[in-house]
Amino acid sequence: MMKLLGGCACQAIRYECTEQPIAQLICHCRDCQHASGAAAAALMMVPADAFHFVTGKPAFYEITGGSGRQICRGFCTSCGSPVTGHWPVVDDIQMIFVGSLDDPSIFVPQTECWLSSAHPWHSVNPDTSKVDRAPVIGVGDRVKAWREGRAKQS
Ligand SMILES: [Zn+2]
Ligand SMILES: [Zn+2]
Repeated sequence: MMKLLGGCACQAIRYECTEQPIAQLICHCRDCQHASGAAAAALMMVPADAFHFVTGKPAFYEITGGSGRQICRGFCTSCGSPVTGHWPVVDDIQMIFVGSLDDPSIFVPQTECWLSSAHPWHSVNPDTSKVDRAPVIGVGDRVKAWREGRAKQS
């Protein structure tokens, strides 16, 4: 497959991912709104062991996410671009902010979550599955299937 390549606006941080995303989602939680500065955050979940920084490293801001879990938001200290997110307690998954990809057009939104905090002025994608809160269906099930596939391989 094509590598996922991306980084921040000033290019001080560059990353690559050598595997397909596990899940692709649009999150409307308040934390993603703050982190992205937008109505919602478009995110790809990728295998943490297939992802690495090629140049530079983000700084991390740790906050309690919509799910109540601690989340570390990675951003560039030079240009301020949000780049990544990860949960310290979930070490096999890395999240990428889709806006940081070199080609964000490859994003295929599958699920929209935390619609309970979505704004009425922001339309939703007609092709996504939709959940008011945490994305157990549409994301959690994809993560589970991916973990089971991995377990079989090893
Ligand atoms: Zn930067
Ligand atoms: Zn969120």
